[in-house]
Amino acid sequence: MSVEQALIARSGNKCELCGAEHDLSVFEVTPSDGSEEQSVLICGTCKSQMEDPSTLDANHWRCLNDSMWSPTLAVQVLSYRMLHALRAEGWPQDLLDMMYLEDDAKAWADAGLAEEDDDDDTLPTKDSNGTVLNEGDDVTLIKDLDVKGTNFTAKRGTLVKNIHLTDNPLHIEGRVNGTQLVLVAAFMKKA
Ligand SMILES: [Zn+2]
Repeated sequence: MSVEQALIARSGNKCELCGAEHDLSVFEVTPSDGSEEQSVLICGTCKSQMEDPSTLDANHWRCLNDSMWSPTLAVQVLSYRMLHALRAEGWPQDLLDMMYLEDDAKAWADAGLAEEDDDDDTLPTKDSNGTVLNEGDDVTLIKDLDVKGTNFTAKRGTLVKNIHLTDNPLHIEGRVNGTQLVLVAAFMKKA
């Protein structure tokens, strides 16, 4: 029996998070060995919102109120992570406070959270075209920028040589008119 068939049998052919019965697919709860014990059957709505956190609709995730009590460990772990992602809403934090995970499951759940944090650190810095910028690159400005604290405008087309990357992938540092500035990477184009 394939993992998918096993999950369909386990879930009764329903999304194991929200109960939807359409557009179901296997989702590995990372770090996962790909087995049914470490995978969850989820619907397209849950999946797309998990893959793009900017589309999270807190109301959809009221379902976690039920799924967090699932007898399936992988579902508990995924519910925990989603509650964690939504905790700023208030009610998910209340549910997290009520939730009890065995030590192994807690470690598994937190491993996934740590992975997400790592991803944040390694996000590339990108210019206006989505080209990855590297330390020491030269870029040009694609629009006029008023430079805070000075009386000059950095003109569109100005070449900024030998940029430095910053901790924030949205920002670079570079020298314009002899002044070291923090610049918005999305207003730059790799030269
Ligand atoms: Zn769902």
